[in-house]
Amino acid sequence: MPSAVQPKVYARSEHNISRSQISENALKVLYRLKKSGFEAYLVGGCVRDLLLGREPKDFDVVTDAHPEQVRKVFRNCRLVGRRFRLAHVHFGREIIEVATFRGAGVVQDDHDEGQLLNDDEGRLLRDNVYGSMEEDVWRRDFTVNSLYYNIRDFSVIDYVGGMQDHAEGVLRLIGDPETRFREDPVRMLRAVRFAVKLGFKLDPACEKPIHDLAELLYNIPAARLFDESLKLFLSGEALQTFEMLRHYGLFQVLFPAVERSLAVEEQGFPRLFLIKALENSDARITEGKTVTAYFLFSAFLWNSVKSSAEEYMKEGMAESIAFQKAANEIISEQVKRISFPRRITMAMREVWTLQSRFERRQGSRPYRLLSHPRFRAAYDFLLLRIETEGVDPELGEWWTKFQDANETEQRKMTQASRKPERRQFKRRRSYQGRSKRNGPTND
Ligand code: ATP
Ligand code: MG
Repeated sequence: MPSAVQPKVYARSEHNISRSQISENALKVLYRLKKSGFEAYLVGGCVRDLLLGREPKDFDVVTDAHPEQVRKVFRNCRLVGRRFRLAHVHFGREIIEVATFRGAGVVQDDHDEGQLLNDDEGRLLRDNVYGSMEEDVWRRDFTVNSLYYNIRDFSVIDYVGGMQDHAEGVLRLIGDPETRFREDPVRMLRAVRFAVKLGFKLDPACEKPIHDLAELLYNIPAARLFDESLKLFLSGEALQTFEMLRHYGLFQVLFPAVERSLAVEEQGFPRLFLIKALENSDARITEGKTVTAYFLFSAFLWNSVKSSAEEYMKEGMAESIAFQKAANEIISEQVKRISFPRRITMAMREVWTLQSRFERRQGSRPYRLLSHPRFRAAYDFLLLRIETEGVDPELGEWWTKFQDANETEQRKMTQASRKPERRQFKRRRSYQGRSKRNGPTND
């Protein structure tokens, strides 16, 4: 471990972080720790974002105080984490996380002294030893995430050239890239996430091993990948993130079925649907609207579900059964990689299975569909299909009108005689001929 490295210290006049940009609660925590005789720094993403003049998502504090000592300093403090104890200082809804410096990768207690901390593939198994700042810095991932803002004199402490990388817009892992990715393969996803979010270039040496190491993500628990996938796709840059993950061969590990559907049909058809969904989601976030994970992930998997259901229908299976079966299979494959909670997979299923109900526009059915809790999502999904899949725009217009119509108009609309409708999945003549025989089954 590179100890005895002298850090470069950037005085207050040499950087642009001002206390006015820092959350008051974070400042309170820093000052209080200092007053109690401890070292206290802001570290990680917040320092990186402050240097860019951006508002940080949250403020992480690091200190030489042990968690129990932190707890004694703050009344509003809870200790969390089993493996590595962290202190959470609560201020209403804001939580300031206070971590103790982590030590080197050698276990210091008597029982397993000298024990190796990596598994066969180099994954770091233990990471729970306290240390000093000089040690803490090497455990962090990227140089720009390893800058310490010192509350004592408002300087920034830099052991790894993070300030220069920051100025040049370079995302560089600390140490040997392959070793660091093997220690924790999620760092590959973080590399993509930060490159996109910050608009930074990945250092070529970090970029190089990713393709070969992508499969190490198979060893990461599906629950952790769920957390990570929300950060990847719900922060307003989903489209670019998707492209970059695919570029590095990371996407296929996360969403194998989606990757297969993209590979089979590179004529631009399923891709277009997915890209529109990502674009819309990003646009909504930019406009400050809410986006739901289930909507986006149901769009991801739609083509896989649809083509599998179509196969079943070719064998004569009724539409609703075929879609349910396809949805079950695709979801159970997917949750092995990313453990979407049940509330999300349930909602995804609903968005898919409601699609065929839009075609039934007579009698009481449209009213029932309109009052379904997932109506809005399913309707947005339908509009996306109209835009990219060749579904008849008239169907969307009808539903747009129906939602805003008054009672009389609605009654007229649902009584209007119309030709028997065909379920329309463009490019499937064989199935269209069959729809009559199977009949409407989805209600
Ligand atoms: P953001 O919160 O904006 O997503 P961040 O850099 O703060 O980005 P966090 O996950 O909050 O990311 O982590 C805080 C800091 O902890 C990071 O900046 C980094 O120094 C360190 N860190 C987090 N995850 C890892 C990891 N997998 N490997 C090494 N260091 C990590
Ligand atoms: Mg953070």
